[in-house]
Amino acid sequence: MITDTPLTAQLEAQRDDRLRVLIVGAGIAGITLAQLLRRDGLHPVLIDRMPVFDHPGYMLALMPTVDQAFIDLGVHERYRAAGTPMDRYSFRSHRGKVLRTDSMKELLSVYGDYNGISRGALIDVLTESGCPATLGTTVRAVSDGVAHFVDHEGRDAGEAPFDLVVGADGIHSRMRDVLGAGPLDVVDTGWSGWVAWADELGDADLGEELWGDGFFLGVYPVKGRVGVFLGGPDAALEVGPQRFAASVRQALDQLGPRLEAAVAAVESDPDPYLWHLDDARTARWVLPNDSARSGTQSILLGDAAAGFLPTAGIGAGMAIESAWMLGRMLKSADRDSLAPILRAWERVERPRVESAQANSRMLAKLMFRRGRFTAWLRETIMRTLSVRAALGPIVKLVAGRPDPDAVARTALASEESAAAGGA
Ligand SMILES: Cc1cc2nc3c(=O)[nH]c(=O)nc-3n(C[C@H](O)[C@H](O)[C@H](O)COP(=O)(O)OP(=O)(O)OC[C@H]3O[C@@H](n4cnc5c(N)ncnc54)[C@H](O)[C@@H]3O)c2cc1C
Repeated sequence: MITDTPLTAQLEAQRDDRLRVLIVGAGIAGITLAQLLRRDGLHPVLIDRMPVFDHPGYMLALMPTVDQAFIDLGVHERYRAAGTPMDRYSFRSHRGKVLRTDSMKELLSVYGDYNGISRGALIDVLTESGCPATLGTTVRAVSDGVAHFVDHEGRDAGEAPFDLVVGADGIHSRMRDVLGAGPLDVVDTGWSGWVAWADELGDADLGEELWGDGFFLGVYPVKGRVGVFLGGPDAALEVGPQRFAASVRQALDQLGPRLEAAVAAVESDPDPYLWHLDDARTARWVLPNDSARSGTQSILLGDAAAGFLPTAGIGAGMAIESAWMLGRMLKSADRDSLAPILRAWERVERPRVESAQANSRMLAKLMFRRGRFTAWLRETIMRTLSVRAALGPIVKLVAGRPDPDAVARTALASEESAAAGGA
């Protein structure tokens, strides 16, 4: 559980830490990192701009890249119990016919779990041992190693020095500007979609996607219900969820009770969450900032560093992996070893995340296109291209997860030998 904690109390707890860490953003990545560092005896200061902890309750399908983080945090069984295995995936034609159903279990179980879980349930799992955070607070500036805090109304909320400032404030990160991340590489699909919940009507292990001509409908199981995503080009969504849902229903011959319930869930939700489908990538994760003067390091983590389109369903998976890699690499780090460890973390983790992001961008080109011919072409490709082939690069990543302890050891050894060579 997140406990709203005064900033002064978090700073006091951190006073004698070997590494004073500030994490801005209590989302999936920020919480994962904070909890791992706490397990290793540190007291990272965790803040979030939300005055009341209340996240949009959408669904997540998590790849096995996340399992080791849960194992290290001692919550793996809780995670498995709070989610539901997504063993099968069906792809439907633009008129609603099931074209193929693949076994995700066969593809992924050798590496670990592929689980559907709601964001709220995931955060409960990550914070079950307690998680202090200062809510309604953000960072206005970091200068000479000192973070300047403001509350959610922009009023001054104090300042404190840190050795490491982590911007983990999501895809539309403000910390990128605060920390001077430079230009962003963004893909904007021009599509958005509503997210809603429907009751489970059987097939509790089945994720389904229907890529229509000018719309997209996805159904993803979590425990006891299904998350629904109904999207389309921004201009088409201006009519609102009810009228857009009605137009989708008209375009389909074979909806079936499950997808019918999914469309109805969007129609009947008085205020469905609207997700705009863009992504973001920064050129660097470890930022120059003012470290030369103060020794303070600044980094971006999770969606703030690389935010994903939903097409490969792996944004949270990679955010958790990046936080886990970093947490493990910082296990016994201090101020002297911080810089080489961060450099090594970026060197190993960024290419992995960027390759997953490249896969999601490639799939987006196939999905977010209008026109009958495109729909026909897409279906022809999907008839022959198995999920194994479409997600091939992702599976390769899952299979090749690096060992953070070895990466940290190598980084420190090469730092030492460089120092010895220079002496
Ligand atoms: C509808 C939907 C479905 C998704 N489905 C999947 C899926 O199936 N599989 C998957 O792997 N990924 C999925 N994702 C992506 C996934 O949610 C993100 O990749 C993941 O949440 C990234 O974690 P994060 O901690 O970087 O950012 P977030 O979880 O977004 O957390 C950012 C936090 O920072 C806080 N914050 C923002 N600005 C500030 C500020 N200026 N100061 C302080 N705090 C701030 C926010 O309040 C928030 O708590 C989905 C996303 C959405 C929206």
